[in-house]
Amino acid sequence: MNLTVIDHPLTRHYLTILRDQDTDPEAFRWAARSLTYTLLLEATKRLPLEEVEVTTPMESTTGHRVHDVVAIAVLRAGLGMLDAVLDMIPDCKVGFAGVQRDEETATPMEYYSNLPDLSSSAVLILEPMLATGGSLSWAVEKAKSSGARGITALCVVTAPEGIARLWDDHPDVHIIAASHDRDLNDRKYILPGLGDMGDRLFGTA
Ligand code: URA
Repeated sequence: MNLTVIDHPLTRHYLTILRDQDTDPEAFRWAARSLTYTLLLEATKRLPLEEVEVTTPMESTTGHRVHDVVAIAVLRAGLGMLDAVLDMIPDCKVGFAGVQRDEETATPMEYYSNLPDLSSSAVLILEPMLATGGSLSWAVEKAKSSGARGITALCVVTAPEGIARLWDDHPDVHIIAASHDRDLNDRKYILPGLGDMGDRLFGTA
């Protein structure tokens, strides 16, 4: 299975802040960004490197450079992970995949999409809440049809239904998460989860 749950004390620490219903949007945004740093080291483990010559104050040596990374933020909750990616990979290109959940059926409805050229790029899809898997599966489909090859999804929390859906639709996608949670409720929210990530990030609840 292509799911890696990061078992690091800092990841758990930030996740607990995100889960806490009393965390305000400012602290929530900070914790989401901080947690994303802890996922990124694992998520970028397989990035291709280019050899470059670098001159230290002492002599020349061979160095390495990461190149051609594209991050796709699934709107709007994925925005909460984007700053961390841009901090660590400042020259990465950014795409946006706007998908809204139909609250009745929990199916994804596209309302906006803007992706850069993805051919020969490593793609990181930022989809914090992998509930039914509908939005992520849709975003992966979009990325693949734009030429993406190596796709890694960064999630804060996953649910069994979402993982099963991705396994069926896109078994080649690697998923990195802070937690694999128990279940979904009847409105397709993750349990124990952290509530509506977009609302909590932007104070719109
Ligand atoms: N999206 C959210 O923001 N939270 C969930 O629990 C599920 C989907």
